[in-house]
Amino acid sequence: MAPLVLIAASVIAAPHVVIDPPQPRLGDPVVVYVAGVEHGGEWGSAEAFGYSFTLQPAGKTVLRAFVAIPSDIEPGPYPLTVSHPRADAAWPAATLQVQKRTFETAHLRVAKKFTKRKRSDALKARLKREQAQIRLVWTATPTPVRDLGRPARPTKTRITGHYGTARVFNNERRSVHYGMDFGGRIGTPVYATATGKVVMSSMRWGSGGTLILDHGGGLFTTYFHLSKRRVKLGQTVTKGQRIGDVGRSGRVTGPHLHFGVALRAAYADGAKAGQIRSLYVDPAGLLMLKIGRTPPSPSSVAEAKPSPRKHAE
Ligand SMILES: [Zn+2]
Repeated sequence: MAPLVLIAASVIAAPHVVIDPPQPRLGDPVVVYVAGVEHGGEWGSAEAFGYSFTLQPAGKTVLRAFVAIPSDIEPGPYPLTVSHPRADAAWPAATLQVQKRTFETAHLRVAKKFTKRKRSDALKARLKREQAQIRLVWTATPTPVRDLGRPARPTKTRITGHYGTARVFNNERRSVHYGMDFGGRIGTPVYATATGKVVMSSMRWGSGGTLILDHGGGLFTTYFHLSKRRVKLGQTVTKGQRIGDVGRSGRVTGPHLHFGVALRAAYADGAKAGQIRSLYVDPAGLLMLKIGRTPPSPSSVAEAKPSPRKHAE
């Protein structure tokens, strides 16, 4: 009877890749599940777009990775490959079908000091220090996978700015907006979008009162311009817990929350191979996901498929 048992087992546990959402757009975060594999608790990586994303054990026969779709590539099919110490020919590869989207341009006025090209030595030193501090957040070994469920909005206020918007400050300095803005008066509560650990709490030049949460598996959320930070470095917070207050600190036009979603990535090849960076993805994409230890059922993947979004199209 042994052969029959083997057949049954292979039907249940056929290795497969589940990509959520199945048709991601430019700038979207994607959850990649590699299911039906004997991973033996070992880590691997999912590679796409010239980056390598950590692939960690999520369930007994499931590995999970967060993959960022860059916002500045051409739409179309891109290969996703899996590297793992136990991978053999039976382990599947997959294709990411990247969908097109267009981003808006916005004109903003901010205090002159924020667009000045000449920066004082003191400011240069401060920015260098701040950059080194944030690098430590991205380069730390990823914390284990968590069952995050459906992430929640970080405030109850309305969305005032979208991901990917090209911004022109005082008609001179240009940048891309890599987050989502929420309106709100100073003191409006800001909540954790999902369970995580506080890995940064500091006052920074551009982002002002700043909190960063590590949600495990290489997923981070950032909360900028806060007037008050209500949690401590190293503290674990749960989804919906109040972590701070809306403020107007840093480079801002007025009080609001800038909410960002960063995924940890390493350059897969070239001169920078192995070097770690973060890739900011669309928070709106994160808020549409359900992030578990096992792949969502095909029906719930279909439900979570981006219905036409009301903004930034
Ligand atoms: Zn913003």
